[in-house]
Amino acid sequence: MELYQKTASELSSLLQSKEISSVELTKAVFARTAQVEDTVGAYISTDEEAALARAAQIDEKRAAGEELSPLAGIPIAVKDNICTKGTATTCASKMLENFVPFYNATVVDKLNEEGLVITGKTNLDEFAMGSSCENSALQTTRNPHNPAHVPGGSSGGSAAVVAAGETPLAVGSDTGGSIRQPASFCGVVGLKPTYGTVSRYGLIAFASSLDQIGPMARSVEDAALLADVLRGADPMHDSTSIPREYDSLHAKLDPDMKGVRIGLPKEYFGEGIDAEVSKAVLDAAEVYRGLGAEIVELSLPLSKYALPIYYILSSAEASSNLARFDGVKYGYRTQKADDLIDLYVKSRSEAFGPEVQRRIMLGTYVLSSGYYDAYYKKARAAQRAIRADYAKAFEQVDVILTPTAPTTAYQIGEKTDDPLQMYMGDICTVSVNIAGLPGLVQPCGFDSGRMPIGMQLIGPRFGEQKLLNAGLAFERATGLTDLVAL
Ligand code: GLN
Repeated sequence: MELYQKTASELSSLLQSKEISSVELTKAVFARTAQVEDTVGAYISTDEEAALARAAQIDEKRAAGEELSPLAGIPIAVKDNICTKGTATTCASKMLENFVPFYNATVVDKLNEEGLVITGKTNLDEFAMGSSCENSALQTTRNPHNPAHVPGGSSGGSAAVVAAGETPLAVGSDTGGSIRQPASFCGVVGLKPTYGTVSRYGLIAFASSLDQIGPMARSVEDAALLADVLRGADPMHDSTSIPREYDSLHAKLDPDMKGVRIGLPKEYFGEGIDAEVSKAVLDAAEVYRGLGAEIVELSLPLSKYALPIYYILSSAEASSNLARFDGVKYGYRTQKADDLIDLYVKSRSEAFGPEVQRRIMLGTYVLSSGYYDAYYKKARAAQRAIRADYAKAFEQVDVILTPTAPTTAYQIGEKTDDPLQMYMGDICTVSVNIAGLPGLVQPCGFDSGRMPIGMQLIGPRFGEQKLLNAGLAFERATGLTDLVAL
């Protein structure tokens, strides 16, 4: 097995026993990138020189006997809506194509402190709005399992680099499914943490009450290791980050499923969900039963409202968050404007793509006087009802098992003409953000076209440990398959 095919945990052991160096590993992943990137197109930018210099530093520290964290020396890619000091952070938008932040996101500082080696920035749907990476204004990313198919979105670049062997780890962000759905489409593991447990300082905001940064990896154990690096309160920079004890998730991994109650909500297995997807997830439930878990059928009756609630709330917040891009302070500015209003209008019309403009219009509409009560206020009330729906379910079960998306990865171009159909693809993931809960996605099979199927485990607030334990149990029972595609 080549180095680029291994999990971060395996690589960590090899680094610690000094069988390999971080420089060697970093060279290996860049060689792999050179081999596949023309096909995959997952990176917006890479910096091999900086990565090798960083890797050499870590090797020196190790040689000097310094105590290093488990992921020290491991390459990692970062979604390009997360600020990296001195390196362009584009949000895959013409608006920020030349934006170079003068500060790091808190999570980037954390990666640096723990000695990870940042390889580059990954493609996404513009401002993280989308489900296929096709809304990127900069490039097309292809699914490593079949380059005619989308990698999912919006963190499609982060999912694709992990699936293609370009890095063992990546960071994504998830507002309505953007870590989980691309993880599912590309056959990798993705964790959307509980709202407020990872600092969002330096994450370019899409919908602030829903956005969350999280890990993407090749195994559940790797996701736990990276989650441990990313989590933690950030009182100086993110007032929504929650001050509490963040115990190591990795240290407490326990795959014992005896007596664990797993809920199957009937709303997630009916109409609109591809039969092959349903079957794979129901088969996974049987694996759990075989491991001693109790399978409980339950109902989340408000599930059908999640999609409209999500698109109202997220668009409302997006319209407000994106108001700062006005052509004056930073970002794109039109070449020629008659007056200030004309400058705003032209800058925003020329630099935002159609999907971003659609969300801004929708969001402005639902917040406007006369419609605020009818749409936005109602959606907020419905959000509370969805939270209550989940709270009731978690009185009966420890975790909930569902599909991640109604289908596997579709062909590039298949849904671009029909935004509503694209939105429908988010049906299984958005309620998790609406309720602020953690969600773990991992591979559970393939469809008849050999495209990966991902299952989603949803936990109660701060229930990451339960999710990762259940994820590990499944992974151990079924084995890791096809770690790297292409
Ligand atoms: N696909 C969803 C959307 O388009 C979710 C995006 C996200 O999580 N950033 O809004």
